[in-house]
Parts: sequence; structure tokens; C-alpha cells
Amino acid sequence: MEKRILFATGNAGKMKEIRMILSDLPLPVVSMKEAGVAAEIEENGSTFEENAVIKARAVMELTGEIALADDSGLEIDYLGGAPGIYSARFMGEDTSYDIKNTALIEKLEGVPEEQRTARFVCAIACALPDGRILTSRGAMEGVIAHEIRGENGFGYDPIFYLPEYGLTSAEISPEQKNELSHRGKALRAMKEQLADIL
Ligand code: IMP
Repeated sequence: MEKRILFATGNAGKMKEIRMILSDLPLPVVSMKEAGVAAEIEENGSTFEENAVIKARAVMELTGEIALADDSGLEIDYLGGAPGIYSARFMGEDTSYDIKNTALIEKLEGVPEEQRTARFVCAIACALPDGRILTSRGAMEGVIAHEIRGENGFGYDPIFYLPEYGLTSAEISPEQKNELSHRGKALRAMKEQLADIL
């Protein structure tokens, strides 16, 4: 089989961003769905890095192929860093982001601007068939908005306000988000590490 990289995510929103950023790697990047690989992986790590490594290693062991995985989330300082590594599971995995985003805005009702700081964090792990593990991390700083705004992106993007742009991360273009985002930064850092070994 032709050499390729499997990306361990089932999230179509993420996959779109990942594909855009990794398009110039020498190997094709294929989602688990495209590769026909199904795996129920328990994310029981206590950091973004640990969870990314757990996912990448599990897919590499299952397939024998190079596997990349990410783990990401939203840290809200006023909430002590929540939802953090529980961002996807916050209020239940199947709850709509309209509901989750509205709940977070309500939790921060009346909280002044300087205490609304938050960041998206992303850790990427690569598991190579020879057992080597590479990791990278990126973050994007912002504040929690007072209302839901924007149609682009996914998840918590409509409440993540970027003060220097006057827009939420659901209002900036996909290209601009890739330039600024936690995932973009972590993926580019991973790409540099991979360029030396692929
Ligand atoms: P993961 O799939 O376990 O990494 O969960 C990540 C969760 O964090 C997603 O389901 C979203 O809720 C949130 N998240 C991560 N990155 C972003 C982003 O770029 N925009 C909006 N939400 C994000």
C-alpha cells in the first residue's frame, strides 16, 4: 500500500482545517473514515498532550501506519480553565453547540472584559511505526464574547472573540483561522518535525 499518514479524528470541521494546513506534506493525509479504520479510543489522559499521544499510538498500533492525532479544547480563565480537556464532552457530547455556547455566555454574565480571557489549545502527536512519538502544541488567545456570532468554523468558535480583529473565530475566514489558530500553529510545528524524517 502507498505510504500515507492517518489522522485520528472523526470531526469533519477539524479535518477540513488539517487538510488545508498539511496539504504540502510529501505524504497524503487521510482521515480514519476515508481509510476505513474504526476505533473507539478512550481519551483518559489528564493533558491535551497525553490524549493526543493515546489516540495517535492506538491508531498506529491498529494499522501499522504513521498516525497523527490532535487533542484540543477551550480554556476559560474565569472558570479555572474549564471546559479544557473536557471541551467536547462539556454538557454531553451530543448537546448542540448553540446550547453549550449559550450556557458559557450565561456563566460569564456580568464578568468584566479583563476577566473574560480564554484560549484555544491544541496538542498534536505523531506515532511512527518504529515506536517514536513526536508532539507539538499551539494556542490562540481571545476573550469570551457576550453573544454568539459567525457561521464559519465549528464548536466554540462563535463565542471566541479576537479583540485585535473585532471578530469571533467563527467570523474570520477559514484561511485566516488557519493562520492564527491553535491547530494551525501546532500543525505547522509538527510539519517541521516531520519534514526532517519523512
Ligand atoms: P477533541 O476532539 O477531543 O480534541 O475535542 C475538541 C473540542 O474542543 C471540540 O469538540 C470543540 O468543542 C473544541 N474545539 C477545539 N478546537 C476548536 C476550534 O478551533 N473551534 C471551536 N471549538 C474548538
